[in-house]
Formats: sequence, C-alpha cells, structure tokens
Amino acid sequence: MSQAVSFQAVRSQDRPAVLVTGGAGYIGSHAVLALQQAGFEVVVLDNLSYGHRELVDNELKVELIVGDTSDRPLLDRLFASQNIAAVMHFAAFINVGESVSDPGKYYRNNVLGTLTLLEAMVAANVKKFVFSSTCATYGVPQAVPIAEDHPQSPINPYGMSKLMVEQILADFDVAYGLKSVCFRYFNASGADPLGRLGEDHSPETHLIPLILLTAMGKRDSISVFGTDYPTPDGTCIRDYVHVSDLANAHVLGVKYLLENGESNAFNLGNGNGFSVQEVIDAAQQVTGRTIKVVACDRRPGDPPALVGSSAKAQKTLGWQSQYADLESILTHAWNWHQKRHG
Ligand code: UDP
Repeated sequence: MSQAVSFQAVRSQDRPAVLVTGGAGYIGSHAVLALQQAGFEVVVLDNLSYGHRELVDNELKVELIVGDTSDRPLLDRLFASQNIAAVMHFAAFINVGESVSDPGKYYRNNVLGTLTLLEAMVAANVKKFVFSSTCATYGVPQAVPIAEDHPQSPINPYGMSKLMVEQILADFDVAYGLKSVCFRYFNASGADPLGRLGEDHSPETHLIPLILLTAMGKRDSISVFGTDYPTPDGTCIRDYVHVSDLANAHVLGVKYLLENGESNAFNLGNGNGFSVQEVIDAAQQVTGRTIKVVACDRRPGDPPALVGSSAKAQKTLGWQSQYADLESILTHAWNWHQKRHG
C-alpha cells in the first residue's frame, strides 16, 4: 500500500542526483557523505525502521523521503519528480542470526523490496545500480583470501537473499540493459574519522559496537560466539573494513557506471583477518578499559573465517583503503560511541 507521502524536490533539478536507499543507516549515511564530498547531488529514501532521521537532517542535510522500497507507487512518483541518474541500494535487513530464525522477513524485504525498486527503475529508464552485497554470499570459503570468482554458496538466508538479488541483476542487465556494481563487503566497521556519523543499530548485534558499549559500562560483558572454531585461538576470523573506505568505493562504483562501465562485482575487504579475541584485545588497548568476556556457543550461520581479496576493486576502480588497521577502525568507532552514548 502506498502511504500518503508527498515530497517536494528541494534541490536543483538541473543536476542529476544519486538516490541512496537506506541513506539514514550506517553504511548508507557514510556513502551519502562521500557522495557529497565528491560533488554529487543526493536524495535519500529510507523507511526509518532502523535509520536515524537526525543524522540525515543535521549531519548530511539532504532531502529525506520517508518510505519503503516495496512501495511501487511511491517509487514511481519519486522517479517522475526527481532527476535521478543512478541508485545506491543499502536498504536491507542485515542480521545473520535473525535471518536464520526469521527467513521470510529477509526474503520479503531484501529480495522483494529490491525487485520492486529495480522494476520501478526500469520503468523510469534509470539503469545504473550500485548494490550492497556481502561476503556472506560465499558461504564457507574453500580458501582465503576469497576472490570474486570463488563459488557463491551462502549458508544463511541473509547471504542467500543478497545472492538472489545479484542473480536478478544479471538477468536485468540481459533483459533491460540495467548496469550494476555489486560490492561484496567483508565486515563494515569504524566510523566517520571526524565523528559526524557512526554505527548505531537497535538492537545492536555487531561485535565492535557491542565491545565498545561494554567498555563504556553500558553492558556487563561481551559474549564470544564460539571458541572451538578451527582457527589459532578458536574464535571466528573476520576481515574488518572501515566504513569510510566502503563509502569511497561506492563513489568510485557509481562513477564507473556513469562512465558506461559494464556490470561487475567487487569484494571490499583488507585481506587481513582478525579473530574475535584479537578484536577484544585491540579494543582494550584503544579504550584503556578492561572488557569482560563470556565464552558462549557458536552462533548459527557463522563460517569460521572470512577474509577477502580486493585486488579487483583496486585494479578496476582504483580503490585503496585508507584505514586498513584495526587501531584506526576502533579509535574512530570509540570516538563516535563516546559522543553518541556517553
Ligand atoms: N560475535 C561475537 N559476539 C557478539 C557478536 C558477534 O562473538 O556479540 C562474532 C560473530 O560470531 C562473528 C564476528 O563476531 O564471528 C562478527 O560478527 P558481526 O555480527 O559483527 O558481523 P557479521 O560477521 O555477522 O557480519
């Protein structure tokens, strides 16, 4: 059902804009900032189920259209009234554990919502699409670091929902000439180095914010999900990539498409894996606080180790991460958390 939402184009219509879905969320808001810094006009579509209006209004100061990617009449009005050159699509549910217990929620939002958006784009002749995919599409890797040609075999509905969209995008290119860049992120982390934006999920389920909330005394302890993995210290290994580096990759991705690049998929990671225990140890160093740890059972749907090779993004897009070290990631996240929750 279309809600009775009306909106006005408050920006200049002379210059085409990038529509950012989920632009009030964690990675989306950093992408909006990076787009603005690169000189793009931006319009945000966000249903605010998890996003933060005040970040869009106060920090980003762009037009926010409150609505859902599954609302086709809203999308049709949006594309008819705004001069949109490309879409960056971040709006999605992202919790691996929840996707295992409530898969329908993930397929409905992440797949059907995206399909509705893509059909509205084709109808409006907007044919450049940058998609937030995930390393979870690879499943349990046969070898690390993972390259883009590694088989995609997700082990949880979250990863499957993203892979389904990648497949839809391949078909939409053949049928309609819709060109897409799929970014398969490893673990998005950190915060804007200047402290304007950061990670604030409710409920919070991600490792680094939970560790920092524990360091702040907002939580008693951090649960470590699994200490019996086949890794050196028994805890899961992940490749943590700074959110501002991800955001810059999206700017490069949209430029690539606007310069008539072919549909493509790129990993975004640093090629370095850190175990859950190593992240906790580094956070104790950065914060100067003691963090209480509780060993727990494994979380369903977690592969033991995910580390990505981003050689293709470096070669094709010229992407380089600026903040590849855990200390920068944790320092920026710690500054943000103290400002947001202190
Ligand atoms: N993790 C953990 N305790 C937590 C949250 C996460 O041990 O409270 C682990 C999780 O099992 C995974 C890693 O930390 O191995 C990163 O999880 P997160 O949820 O941050 O990101 P994901 O890998 O699911 O995208």
